[in-house]
Amino acid sequence: MKFNITFLRRKVARRILMLFFVCALLPITLLAIISFNHVTKQLRGQSQRRLQQASKAAALSIYERLLFLEAGMKSVASTLTMGNGPLTQSSFRGLDEDLRRKFKGLVLVSDTGNHKAVFGEIENPPKTTGAESHHLSAGRIVVSSEHRPALPTRVFMKMMLDPQAPLQGVLLGEINTQYLWGSGYEDTLPPMTELYVLDQSANALISSLPGAESLSEEMKARVALSVSGQFEWRLKGAEFLAAYWSIPLKYRFFVPQWTVVLSEPKADVLAPVSNFKKTFLLVILLSLCTVLLLSISQIRRSLIPLNELQEGTRRIAQRDFGSRVAVTSGDEFEDLAASFNSMARRLGKQFDALATMAEIDRAVLSALDTEKILETVLNRIHDVFPCDRVTVTLFDQGRGVPRTYVKGSNVGSKTWVETFPITSEDVREVCAGPEGLLLMDHEAPRSLAPLFGLGVKSLLLLPISIRGRLSGIITLGHLHPPSYTQDDLVQAHQLADQVAVAIHNAQLYEETKNQAIELEKSNKVKDEFLSVMSHELRTPLTTIIGFIEMIRDKMFGAINAEQEKALEKVMMHSKDLISMINGILYATLLESNAVKAEINDLKLDPFLEDLKSDYAIPLDKGLSINWDFAAGIPPIRTDAAKLKHVLQNVINNAIKFTETGNVTVSVRHFPEARTVEFKVADTGIGIPKEKLSLIFEKFYQVDSSQTRLYGGVGMGLYTVNKFTGLLGGTIEVESEAGKGSVFTVKIPY
Ligand code: ADP
Repeated sequence: MKFNITFLRRKVARRILMLFFVCALLPITLLAIISFNHVTKQLRGQSQRRLQQASKAAALSIYERLLFLEAGMKSVASTLTMGNGPLTQSSFRGLDEDLRRKFKGLVLVSDTGNHKAVFGEIENPPKTTGAESHHLSAGRIVVSSEHRPALPTRVFMKMMLDPQAPLQGVLLGEINTQYLWGSGYEDTLPPMTELYVLDQSANALISSLPGAESLSEEMKARVALSVSGQFEWRLKGAEFLAAYWSIPLKYRFFVPQWTVVLSEPKADVLAPVSNFKKTFLLVILLSLCTVLLLSISQIRRSLIPLNELQEGTRRIAQRDFGSRVAVTSGDEFEDLAASFNSMARRLGKQFDALATMAEIDRAVLSALDTEKILETVLNRIHDVFPCDRVTVTLFDQGRGVPRTYVKGSNVGSKTWVETFPITSEDVREVCAGPEGLLLMDHEAPRSLAPLFGLGVKSLLLLPISIRGRLSGIITLGHLHPPSYTQDDLVQAHQLADQVAVAIHNAQLYEETKNQAIELEKSNKVKDEFLSVMSHELRTPLTTIIGFIEMIRDKMFGAINAEQEKALEKVMMHSKDLISMINGILYATLLESNAVKAEINDLKLDPFLEDLKSDYAIPLDKGLSINWDFAAGIPPIRTDAAKLKHVLQNVINNAIKFTETGNVTVSVRHFPEARTVEFKVADTGIGIPKEKLSLIFEKFYQVDSSQTRLYGGVGMGLYTVNKFTGLLGGTIEVESEAGKGSVFTVKIPY
């Protein structure tokens, strides 16, 4: 089986797993540590108490044996003092055999230092010290010991044969240590227990552990420190528990005191606990595995439904409302999945309704025709609000009687129009506010009865209010009582509001359209008038100018200076008049789109020379015209007449609005941009910055009071701008009041 743990990437999974671990392992571990410590303490305490008991028992038996030895020695002494005459082997024949087992040897040491063996032998007998002699002469026993490196310690017992007659000598016995410490003492001790007997100088009298003699110093220190009679010590890394019992011997046996120490390796004492430790680790490991397996299976069981739910949410986010979440865990997850599915179903329904609503809204708002708007509402409203009959009544259409558009519930059913005698007041009486009303047929006033057609039992009335005025009503008729939710009602009212906006838009559009038609008509009349007037004025004016010229040229006879001056004035005003008429004519033609560019090849050299020649006549003011253009510009494709009109107008303006200085006409060719640039710069009155954008408008003059001074009607630049546009070019102006202006015309080719 493949062990898939990818689910552990999830935070929830990790959290649950952690929880399992903490809840399951922490208490076990804590409990184990506490019990381990408790048991260890108990075991140690018990063991030390046991050792103390045992050391007391061992000390008492040693003391007992010393008493036996004393008794044995005393009986020998009495035997010896009772017998008169010299001491022979036969004198001890009566001695108990047992005494021979207790003493290795027994000798009588006379005051002269002669040794006489009672039995056995004593090599290198110890000397009797003054203090000992004093003790002996009091009739008491002296026990002493002799330490020999790497050899067992020898223990001696002495007594005066007769304290009354010290000259009889001292009875000296070397105690059989095997007897003293208890022959085969190992068996009498608890298993694994070591015995040490230390003398007053902490020398080891006996040690069951080989090599422990050297430890006597440490042991002495420990014994001195321990008040309770229990202590711990170390030997070559091993730890031991120990307990001791001191035998006070000073009074009876002169030797200060012997201390019996029993010791046991800690490892042996705590062996059950260390076994428990191993078992405990095993238990921990086992519980770890169990927790792991159980938690993983539990997490998987919880995560699978969670995954399903998450997938379901993702599908809903992608607007897949049809898919369902399948969870059969038999727990709360299954309930959650069921709720989720029902939520998805509801969401799907609402989304469909909203989408349809949006579609209707779009269709309604994009229509600019009231009939079309109503048609859309009547045809589509069933998709959102299932009903058996829809009507839309409009009260205010300027048609006198309100029209009611009716449609049945069948898909293919036609819309028909009725003229029910319903007024906006009738509706307002029923539903006072804009929020509409669900009306049952028996509650409805008579006036609204016509709306209950086709057996409709209830009507949802949705008022259409335009600018706060009740302008119509939508009714949704039902054969059976409907079950609208609050959301449905809100949506229905929103739809009615959209219809109101759309109808209002359509009405506005219709009004604007009518106005535009009217405007176009009046414009046409104006254009026709202007065109006719211009024609009618231009012809006689041209004739007038022609005759004036003839008179001025004295073709009809001589004229005097005054007449000539008057003629000049007539001539000037006539020319102004004709240029004004031309301007109006051009503007009229341009507005009626009657002017078209006639594009042909144009050689610029002769064109510019011709233009220049028009200004060859000297001007009657201190002004010079400079021409700056190089020959050899390749031919361009443009409308020569319109270009000439543009340039003439700009040059004429420059001359007109400049009193002194100069007017410079320059031409540049830009082959890469395939453009020819005409620049007309003057040093005249200039144009204020804020007026620059206005000078291309019809009849605009920067300062109309100057008209009298300079002439013109403000149509020149309008025509210039339009013509430049027709040629695909641009016109720009830079100017500063009082300094002059620069007009730049760029013509592409
Ligand atoms: P107009 O027939 O009055 O000259 P235009 O359309 O040709 O009409 O010019 C409009 C106005 O622009 C003029 O009345 C004048 O105020 C201003 N204008 C045009 N060209 C110049 C110029 N070169 N210098 C100063 N003002 C100018």
